[in-house]
Amino acid sequence: MTGRLHIAVVGAGPAGLAVALLLQRAGHQVSVFERFDEPKPLGSGLILQPTGLTVLHHLGLLGEILSLGARIDRLFGADARTGRTVLDVRYDARPGGRFGLAVHRAALFGVLHRAALREGIVVETGTEITDIDAGGERATLLGGDGKRIGPFELVVDASGTRSALRRRADASCEPKPLAYGAFWASLGWREGFDPHALLQRYDKASVMIGVLPIGRPELDADPMAAFFWSLKPADAESVCAAGIDAWKERLVSLWPECRAFTDQIDGFDQLVLARYGHHTLMRPTGRRLAIIGDSAHSASPQLGQGANMALLDAVGLAYALQLHPSLDDALEDYVRARRLHVRVFQVLSRMFTPFYQSDSVLLPFLRDRLVATVAEIPPAPRVLASMVAGTLVDPFRRVGLREVEWRSASRLKTEGSMNVRRPDQEQNEAIEHSMP
Ligand SMILES: Cc1cc2nc3c(=O)[nH]c(=O)nc-3n(C[C@H](O)[C@H](O)[C@H](O)COP(=O)(O)OP(=O)(O)OC[C@H]3O[C@@H](n4cnc5c(N)ncnc54)[C@H](O)[C@@H]3O)c2cc1C
Repeated sequence: MTGRLHIAVVGAGPAGLAVALLLQRAGHQVSVFERFDEPKPLGSGLILQPTGLTVLHHLGLLGEILSLGARIDRLFGADARTGRTVLDVRYDARPGGRFGLAVHRAALFGVLHRAALREGIVVETGTEITDIDAGGERATLLGGDGKRIGPFELVVDASGTRSALRRRADASCEPKPLAYGAFWASLGWREGFDPHALLQRYDKASVMIGVLPIGRPELDADPMAAFFWSLKPADAESVCAAGIDAWKERLVSLWPECRAFTDQIDGFDQLVLARYGHHTLMRPTGRRLAIIGDSAHSASPQLGQGANMALLDAVGLAYALQLHPSLDDALEDYVRARRLHVRVFQVLSRMFTPFYQSDSVLLPFLRDRLVATVAEIPPAPRVLASMVAGTLVDPFRRVGLREVEWRSASRLKTEGSMNVRRPDQEQNEAIEHSMP
């Protein structure tokens, strides 16, 4: 244990709030700085994998998030023109009762933020951090207004893909923009779609339409869906110029049932254009600096791992600080503990994304004919299930976690998240877990 440190966390996203909670509970003095005037989530929904859910369980927040999200058992995709199955991954292809949980971003943010407030953690909003000065005995943060904030023994950069602090890492690099992004919208859930599956339709790799049940942003809200359509950000202007009706007609011509969602869209202002990039820091640390989450590694969300890896990074850093008396040793251990898992999933994301989002004609041809067939032959279904779950290489042991016992978790959740409103303590107490 490094002793009681004064630690600054930059960014109040999933990574920042989770690490702040863990470090405060470990006895450190934590200050969080967020550029927004009010801490708030951006974007639509995301899937929490068994990895991210295990972290939330470790934080004592699994019950609360289960009561808000939508249980996901299957990822299913078909060719929009032929109806041929292209992707069919089921979490239960692997024994153990695993599942994913799709959540509205506001639900994940709310669960973490409320826990941070309960813990007495102060989030200083409206504070954009532009640099770190770690030249002296301790580190000082530089605010956008030129103010110096600190000093701190450690700064945790959790400020996401556009981090301004990442350039102070021992070996830094910036995200490379990917050709494809997507329009996303949070809409009302509609019957007629599987409430426990991510459903997608493709036309080659240039069109991907998706429907993801995401539960509710808060307990008294109605169930919602994330609806998305991939496109090149460079084409967004011409798509908008052609008008919302032309865009909706195109979608419905490829997937008629999704009219239930397009009918809820009256203008492009209801859609958020998400741009994706890809980078991996080889050493996500610097002098008195630890870099976690999207600031350390970003990718297209095709594999649905980003927020989960951010949560694992948070645990990995807190665990390393708990184990080592020296800060330098702790930072070195954090790098080692997360290295393999992060690199494997970054490579997989890079490999798989062009099969689903690119201008290639060959890759979707192979995907539809070859990959879809091979994916049904054992052990491929198991391997794919582990890949989606984020456990193709063990993410838990090196960060001191033991995976949730899923059968207990799902017994408590019974019909799935859309109908379940149980107190979090009741659920958490019933699920076995331990920190070695
Ligand atoms: C459309 C889309 C779908 C996705 N789907 C999935 C999915 O299904 N599963 C999954 O696991 N992941 C998914 N992701 C990825 C996931 O959203 C990210 O990996 C995750 O949000 C990273 O968390 P983070 O805390 O590192 O960064 P962020 O969530 O980006 O949070 C960073 C925070 O830092 C603040 N900040 C930024 N700069 C500064 C500054 N200079 N000073 C102070 N504060 C600052 C920001 O305002 C923000 O609050 C998806 C991403 C997108 C765009």
